Amino acid sequence: MDFKIYNTLDRKKELFVPLNPPFVGLYVCGPTVYGDPHLGHARPAITFDLLFRLLQNLNYKVRYVRNITDVGHLENDSDEGEDKVAKKARLEQLEPMEVAQYYINRYRDAMKYLNVLPPSIEPQASGHIIEQIEMIKVILENGYAYESNGSVYFDVEKYNRKFHYGKLSGRVLEEMIAASRDLDGQSDKRHSADFALWKKASPEHIMRWNSPWSVGFPGWHLECSAMSTKYLGEQFDIHGGGMDLMFPHHECEIAQSTAALKHESVRYWMHNNMITINGQKMGKSLGNFITLEELFTGNHKLLEKAYAPMTIRFFILQAHYRSTLDFSNEALSAAEKGLDRLLKAVSTLKKIKPSSESTVDVSSLKKECMEALCDDLNSPIAIAQLFEWVRIINQLHEGEQKITQEDLDKLSNDMHEIVFDILGLRDDSIADNQNLVSGLVDMILNIRLDAKSKKDWATSDKIRNELQNMGVVVKDRKDGYDWELE
Ligand code: ZN
Repeated sequence: MDFKIYNTLDRKKELFVPLNPPFVGLYVCGPTVYGDPHLGHARPAITFDLLFRLLQNLNYKVRYVRNITDVGHLENDSDEGEDKVAKKARLEQLEPMEVAQYYINRYRDAMKYLNVLPPSIEPQASGHIIEQIEMIKVILENGYAYESNGSVYFDVEKYNRKFHYGKLSGRVLEEMIAASRDLDGQSDKRHSADFALWKKASPEHIMRWNSPWSVGFPGWHLECSAMSTKYLGEQFDIHGGGMDLMFPHHECEIAQSTAALKHESVRYWMHNNMITINGQKMGKSLGNFITLEELFTGNHKLLEKAYAPMTIRFFILQAHYRSTLDFSNEALSAAEKGLDRLLKAVSTLKKIKPSSESTVDVSSLKKECMEALCDDLNSPIAIAQLFEWVRIINQLHEGEQKITQEDLDKLSNDMHEIVFDILGLRDDSIADNQNLVSGLVDMILNIRLDAKSKKDWATSDKIRNELQNMGVVVKDRKDGYDWELE
């Protein structure tokens, strides 16, 4: 099936044609690991997880690289100030890599809850300092960078004479320079729009490495150029990330890769839009910053209750990734109800009795869902299509429509494939039910222990026999009991 992607670089939808089919190279900017994963992390993770799952379903062999930024990302995303990871380490008196590891673990746990598949490679910036230094050397050799006081800066003006700085974000260099003229003379940069490839470490800067220019650390944007080239080659298919990374991060990535390789490396740029909370941008200073753990536990003043990870995933998938998405208790509760209806319909499929004829056309479900998803990941249309089938499944269950065994098998397979494999939803009520069943069996067997201690053999035998009839085998032990399902 043809797959169309909206390429942010050309601002239009294009047919996706991989460089080396069936292989697809996918790079997505991952988290900077200095704080708990939050709502802002969930959207890109789920968007590109959907892309990853869909491409695999279309039989592509995807190498999905999602990096971890553990060095070089300075406060305010600028070239000056403290490193975000190092600052946390200083405040908590930890080694910076302890901070990074702690939040990497937290991030991976949260992704598991959201049923986000792990990427093929998850490289850390601090493990690729050599590759970054090598890339700086090439950019210097090619004449698009200069050394100043032990730091190395990218020469944006010189680059812009031959290439186009601003092509992704649509910004104009002259306007950027005019807007930041007052910064001139305050740094080692020749021009205010230049950005750091290597920074000389100040004495208090604790994350530092040797380089030909100084003991220092790489600039934030460089890791993605260096690691995408290392793992996906000089040209690769898709680069994704949040819209907030388009400038300066991705614009600088394009400039670095082009300056080093003399050609562009990314063929399709994809950007997910942002999440707002009750209509406002999310920010620590606004008091509406919600971590994923707070969402899962309901432990935040803006939340009326806890929301299950699958509710969050479904809520995000209900919007197209290029639209803004507003978080509110009402919207989340509606998503929770919708997901419940969808998952109930999937389990209702098992209860439907087949007929000798079908009054429904089961071929349309997969076809229409796949057409929507292959049209630039239009998950809301695919979900609307699924709800059309929720209605039909309920009619089949009520006997208002008929279906043959063969059609029922196809419907069931297609429904599972779209809901669980491609949209990546998970029926957590199955695990919940298992816990409930274990709890109930234990409760009943404890009542039986009580009866036995009172020599009420009639009740004790009755409980054991009736559980046995339901497939629960009870083994008495000196100190209690064991049980297992037949
Ligand atoms: Zn990046």
